Formats: sequence, C-alpha cells, structure tokens
Amino acid sequence: MGGTAVDSGIGKFDVAELHGSVAGPVLLPGDEGYADEVATFNLSNPVVPAVAVGVTGAGDVQAVVRFAARHHLPVAVLATGHQAVKNAHGAILINTTRMDGVRVDPARRTARAEAGVQWAAVVAATAKYGLAPMSGSAPDVSVVGYTLGGGQSPVFGRAQGYAADHVVRIEVVTADGELRHVAPDSEPDLFWALLGGKGNFGVVTAIEFELFELTEFYGGGLHFPGEQMEKVLRVWREWAPTLPEEASTSFAVLRLPDLPDLPPAMRGKFLLHVRFSYLGTEEDGELLLAPIRAVTAPVLDSVQSRPYTESPVIHLDPPSPVPYYEGTTTLREFSAEVLDALVAFAGPGSDNPLLNVEIRALGGALDREPAVPNAVPSRGIPFLMLAIGAGGPDRAALLRDWLGRMEQTFAPWVFDDRRLVNTLGKDDATTPERLRLVYGPERYDRLAAIKRRYDPANMFRINHNIKP
Ligand SMILES: Cc1cc2nc3c(=O)[nH]c(=O)nc-3n(C[C@H](O)[C@H](O)[C@H](O)COP(=O)(O)OP(=O)(O)OC[C@H]3O[C@@H](n4cnc5c(N)ncnc54)[C@H](O)[C@@H]3O)c2cc1C
Repeated sequence: MGGTAVDSGIGKFDVAELHGSVAGPVLLPGDEGYADEVATFNLSNPVVPAVAVGVTGAGDVQAVVRFAARHHLPVAVLATGHQAVKNAHGAILINTTRMDGVRVDPARRTARAEAGVQWAAVVAATAKYGLAPMSGSAPDVSVVGYTLGGGQSPVFGRAQGYAADHVVRIEVVTADGELRHVAPDSEPDLFWALLGGKGNFGVVTAIEFELFELTEFYGGGLHFPGEQMEKVLRVWREWAPTLPEEASTSFAVLRLPDLPDLPPAMRGKFLLHVRFSYLGTEEDGELLLAPIRAVTAPVLDSVQSRPYTESPVIHLDPPSPVPYYEGTTTLREFSAEVLDALVAFAGPGSDNPLLNVEIRALGGALDREPAVPNAVPSRGIPFLMLAIGAGGPDRAALLRDWLGRMEQTFAPWVFDDRRLVNTLGKDDATTPERLRLVYGPERYDRLAAIKRRYDPANMFRINHNIKP
C-alpha cells in the first residue's frame, strides 16, 4: 500500500510518508477496515474521506496534521460519529477511538480522558471513588466532542452549568502541528474558543475536567400512553418551573418502531416519555415527582434511587447506529399556547412521522457565566426543542418536511437565534451567516479572530465551520 498516490479532489498526494510517520492504520477507500474507520452513528450522514488514519496518540495526530498542512488538505475528526455533519470528501480523517485512556485523580476530584473515550468509560472509572462526571444522556458519545460543544448534562446541568464550565486543561494539536497544553492561565483565548467553538481550532488529544461527589441519585423515566400527553403536559408545564436546580426534567413524544430489543410496553407504541432526575434523597425526589405521578398511570415507571452508572436509563437513547434526520429550535416559554401547538403538531390526532419530538427544560446554572468564561453560546435559553425522524433516503423528503414544519410551527415562541452547539445537525447553520447568529455576532467575531490566529488556512473546516 505504501506509495499509493491519492487524488483527493483537492490535490494529489502520496500516502507512503504517512505510513512511515504514524503508528495507527492509514486506510484508503476500498481498503479492508476503511468502512469501520469512517462509520458514523447517523447512517444518513456517511463520511467518505480521501484517507482515514486511526491515530494511537498525540504523536500520530501531530504527524497527520503536519502532513495535511504540507499538502493543503482539510482534516476531519471522528470519535463516535454522533455529530458527523459533512462528508469529509477530499479530507484526511483522524479517527480517535484508539486513544481510550482515562485517568482519575480522586484527591483533586478530576479526570483526564483521551480523545476517543466515551462517557460510559469515565462514569465507570469515577464511580469507584464515589465521583461522577457531567455526562450527557447517551453513554456512547465521546467526552471530548460533547464537552467542546458545551455539554448539557440531564443530571448535573441545572445545578452546575455546562460540562465545558468545569474543564481545567485541554491538550490540543493546532494547525501548525504543535501539541499545546491549554489552560485559562496559559493560552486563555484558545481555552475560551475551544469550549464552545468545538473542533474549529485543532484536534484535542485529551481533556481534564472536574468531577462531583455522587454515588446515588433519584431518576429515570415515566412512559405514559401518548393519548394522555395533553393531560400530563398540562401539569408538567406548571410543575417544571417550580423544580429546584438539583432537579431536571424533559419529555419526548415518541412514536416507536416495533423492534424486538424494546420492552413489550414500548414496541410500536405512541408514548409520552417524561424524564426526571434529582441530586438528592429518594424521599425528597418522590415528593418532587408526585404531581406528575398523580396525573395518570404510566405504562412504565423507572424513576428510583440508582447509582450514577445507570444514568442512561433516564433518556434510553438508541444504542445502535440508525439512519435519521434531526432538527432543533428553542422556546422562550412552554405556555398553554405552546402546548396546544405541540398537541396539534405531534399529538394523537396528528399524522406526525417523527420518532421523537423532545423538549428539555434548561435554566438554573445553565444560564450563568462560569468563573472562567468560554464560548458556549446557549446561556439563558429556557427550553431546548429537538426532533428526530428515523429512516433512510426514501423517507428523507417526508422527514425533512416535518422537521421544517416544526421550526415554522414554533417560530412564534422561539427564544432567539442562538442554539446549543451540540444539537446542530447537518441541515443547521450551513452558512457562516447562520452560524454567526447561532453564536451571537459578538462571540462569533471573537471566535473568527482566534481562528485567524490558530488556523488561518481553515484546515479544520469539516464541522460547523467558523471561517478565519
Ligand atoms: C443519542 C444522542 C444523545 C445526545 N445527548 C446529548 C446530551 O444529553 N447533551 C449534549 O450536550 N449533547 C448530546 N448529544 C450531542 C453530542 O454531544 C454531540 O453529538 C457530540 O458532538 C458528539 O461528539 P462525538 O465526538 O461523540 O461525535 P463525532 O461525530 O465523532 O464528533 C462530533 C464533532 O466533534 C468534533 N470532535 C470530536 N472529537 C474531537 C477532537 N478530539 N478534537 C476536535 N474535535 C473533535 C468532530 O470533529 C465533530 O465535528 C447527543 C447526541 C446523540 C446522537
């Protein structure tokens, strides 16, 4: 394979040099292993780079970045493919999954995770010390990808803010091939920009962040028959704003497929899934949740005191890759009018084909600037709205139409143009003008200025791209 000339569509280059300088595999389209190296979680967003490199450490990352700089190639980064938004055509792709080291420092209450580490591994490693990280709803998302996009934890978020707010150090290879140790007192601008600006500034090789003392929490989900959604949400709407910051809630209107790996009560069913978590005792948690449990009988109730290692039970995100299309917006309120609009859009009488229409109540510490500021743009947004339509290309037009309808239907109540970076899909913020609104013009302009300093040639553009 050494010496193969590749036409990336951008220019010709020879991969022999790469074989000699990296320890991990260097794979071209058609090579055995290439398909696994570029696999995404969302099967509707395939990634097809000119070359895929399975990096084994920071040295490999530096070698790839220096090679890319010499050949003027864009560099794409893939950990789990949960937010692969561009096809990476003509790019060199860095797959980080082999960088799977986790180190816990129980005395300092911090953990360091390498680029390919998923949340499940950190949660398991920290639980031994009675500590927990600010992981998200899905255990198989990468720590680095999630944290660089802010990281909204359904358990810790309202009490502690974004995961990005608790990062103490970032190790990153920038476009010049340097491995930098970035902290608030060493490279403050780069530290600010990476946390929220995501993969635009380099390849993060490891990240160190704070942990919280926690062994058990009270949480899980209540699945109600979809026909009861209006009745339950009428109570949820008044109840959610009364919760303390230690409690978090969201709900999803689900139209589930008839899959054998789902519990019988969920297979092929139309359900309202109310999620709840509380950082406190079972007794207090039960009292807080009582108004929702009192509305009507759920078909499934998994809310109980449980170890943090079981936190994925709250959302029950799908564990295996599927083809899907996604949409997101925000809401300034969940008023009676919004509830009426939601029932018309996704309720029992609608022919809505979307798998999941979800609203997360944010607020609390997610609204507050952290001690060390960062570029996370979504503070102050009261409600996050998300939707997922599952299906392949034959359903794309239908699903995209319904995702567009969601944005239009709820436009009268949208909070503003900002969004959560982690929830931006392939069809969101596809132009610099639109991304500038997602970040807010002032924040975007500062990000662009820092980008000019660290990545003037825009090597890292296979993402929601901040132009230098
Ligand atoms: C089922 C599901 C549940 C989710 N739940 C939550 C949630 O509760 N809270 C939340 O905040 N988000 C959530 N997300 C969003 C998730 O955080 C983002 O999709 C995140 O970007 C995934 O990161 P990844 O690295 O695993 O994915 P990838 O697709 O591999 O990467 C995503 C982006 O991050 C960049 N990136 C990844 N690693 C690096 C690196 N080492 N250096 C530089 N850039 C890098 C990539 O280039 C890419 O642009 C969820 C997503 C899904 C699909």
